Amino acid sequence: MDEVNDQEVEPFDSFAEAVSSLEKLTKIETKIAVGIEKSLVPWKESRKLLKCMNPDQVSNTSLFQFMQNLFLQMGLGKLGISNVSRFQLTLVLTDCQVCKIYRTQKSGRICFITSDAILKFFVKGLDLPCVVEETKCAKEGSENCEFKVDLQPLGVYKIALDEMDRVLIGCILSSKFAVKDFADDNGIEEGEVLYRLKVLKSYQIVDENHNITEIGSTYYKFAQGLRALEEDFDPPWKSLADITTAIAAKNSFAEAMSETVGSEPVIDVDSSEIVNLAEEAKKSKSFAELISKYVKLNE
Ligand SMILES: [Zn+2]
Repeated sequence: MDEVNDQEVEPFDSFAEAVSSLEKLTKIETKIAVGIEKSLVPWKESRKLLKCMNPDQVSNTSLFQFMQNLFLQMGLGKLGISNVSRFQLTLVLTDCQVCKIYRTQKSGRICFITSDAILKFFVKGLDLPCVVEETKCAKEGSENCEFKVDLQPLGVYKIALDEMDRVLIGCILSSKFAVKDFADDNGIEEGEVLYRLKVLKSYQIVDENHNITEIGSTYYKFAQGLRALEEDFDPPWKSLADITTAIAAKNSFAEAMSETVGSEPVIDVDSSEIVNLAEEAKKSKSFAELISKYVKLNE
């Protein structure tokens, strides 16, 4: 494929390649749907990630390691993290499989399917509303594809702080707060109290002098009902084998076309016909030829 002509700007070299690429993308999309469906994460685990101060800490959480494993299994590539701030994460995808599918395309950011998978993982899996944007793409000449995840602050405040943080805020508000007393009264180490204060400061709930800010007092009112909303259940990595099996089971194109996740097939499709059509498409030189084969097949 070394010829230089106007076909270079086309995403695919031929109709057969387009069909085979569509097949690959459909497989990935189906795996994403299955993977996300099975990735409900309890707040207590998302919280550990939200409290992280740097990419290394994020990489060490069970949640992020699960996400890496899931993105590999869904067929997207190897996920890493390059930057963390309070309401924004920068994710990096190396060995991007979606870029490989659009083999002949040489420009533009094309990993919409990956952006969408990240969005769904955060919104459906973690209960964290966000906006995801691909900011660098291997197709544009970057080494890796990069995605910025902007988390909705209210959603983060809802999950990031736990009951002990709220007790701590209440204690500071009562103006009888001292680190050692608080640690003794609540059966925790002084170091933990200091770490919690550091996190509260990063969320602008307390200021430099550990006084409650306006955001802090607003949060405290808003937070009273949060304990009742929090559900406790096993994180999805406790049943990783089930997820792996479910994703692997979705590996055929026929299944991808005839099944929808978690429900009965919407359209009754003869899967053998789809497989035949895809096979024929690879051998066909044009759309017209493919259609004539398909019509003969059904006569
Ligand atoms: Zn990309």
